[in-house]
Amino acid sequence: MAEAALYDTFARAPLRFDRGEGVWLVTEGGERYLDFGAGVAVTSCGHSNPHLVNALKSQAEKVWHLSNLYEIPEQERLARRLVDATFADKVFFTNSGAEALETAIKTARRYHFSKGHPEKFHIITFEGAFHGRTIATIAAGGQEKYMEGFGPKAPGFDQVPFGDLDALNAAINENTGALLIEPIQGEGGVRVVDKEFLRELRRICDDRGLLLILDEVQSGVGRTGRFFAHELTGITPDIMAVAKGIGGGFPFGACLATAEAASGMKPGIHGTTYGGNPLGMACGNAVLDVVLADGFLENVRDVALVFRQGLASLKDRFPDVIEDIRGEGLMLGIKARVAAGDLVVAMRDEKMLSVPAGDNVVRLLPPLTITAEEAREGLARIERAAEKLTEAELKKTA
Ligand SMILES: *Cc1c(COP(=O)(O)O)cnc(C)c1O
Repeated sequence: MAEAALYDTFARAPLRFDRGEGVWLVTEGGERYLDFGAGVAVTSCGHSNPHLVNALKSQAEKVWHLSNLYEIPEQERLARRLVDATFADKVFFTNSGAEALETAIKTARRYHFSKGHPEKFHIITFEGAFHGRTIATIAAGGQEKYMEGFGPKAPGFDQVPFGDLDALNAAINENTGALLIEPIQGEGGVRVVDKEFLRELRRICDDRGLLLILDEVQSGVGRTGRFFAHELTGITPDIMAVAKGIGGGFPFGACLATAEAASGMKPGIHGTTYGGNPLGMACGNAVLDVVLADGFLENVRDVALVFRQGLASLKDRFPDVIEDIRGEGLMLGIKARVAAGDLVVAMRDEKMLSVPAGDNVVRLLPPLTITAEEAREGLARIERAAEKLTEAELKKTA
């Protein structure tokens, strides 16, 4: 039963998990579920990863919170490591993905403002995008279902169809300051942006003096088998939003930028109480210890290959259930022929968790620490779910 004291904003499955171990979640009753949702791509290093648990515990015994009025060594260390491993020169820490996007939006607007172009505050985004649930980020995402009833759409966000270069070029005008895109749409249905399209966006930004903002909140921190998904394209952004996997389950995010893109962000013009808090930073540093260790991302790619090949053969065997497999690395989606929600439930009946997405897709986002054997266990459960759904379809038509 749904708890009446909570906002009615979530349709929750009647499952109560008490603890987790690696890719497994254990209910209060002791039932074990294979977790291919990872709290929506958050628990990148698995549940109760001993290295993360130790980092959090030892930080908790020292100091929990310091304001950004003081220097925070763990924050400086994490920023330096992110800078060393990416295109960025500068990092701002936030509490969530939406706030990382808010920082990205403010950074872009402030850049043009500081160059004498306050009118260049418009940002072009793409249909099917998801950038968060704040007033600005629902406008950036542009999806009516998230904006309805919340007053007028925040100004300065112009949307063009996914993958449509002509529409994009036509939408750019003297008020445009930046383009914002997820390299792989997550909520939108694991829709991978064509690599050449991303390279073209980089060229357009360079030619027309625009900033390229990537939302790697879901696709980042090893999810695709690269540290960040855009590495698969050879281009780099000017600004990038990160969250989810970077905390391994401790809630925080980050906005990364080149020194030039961040040049408008001066003392006092942006801030946060909790962003960069020592507990989060200790977890972030522990996540990087895992994800950036020698061979880790290579292993993600290897396991992803095994899993994806298995999914491809399930697609061939169950064409009435699975229409297509999409994604990159361990950010995968099953485009379903049945209702995606039915497939999620059928998998849950086999004690396997997944996450529904737009475009009738079921997302598979296991912890990056998953082994090939656990991936095969996942395949076996999806197979059983698909068998049951196929039987149910046959009964319907009989
Ligand atoms: C989850 C997500 C967000 C929002 O992150 P929150 O931490 O929920 O605010 C933004 N962009 C993308 C691509 C996401 O997947």
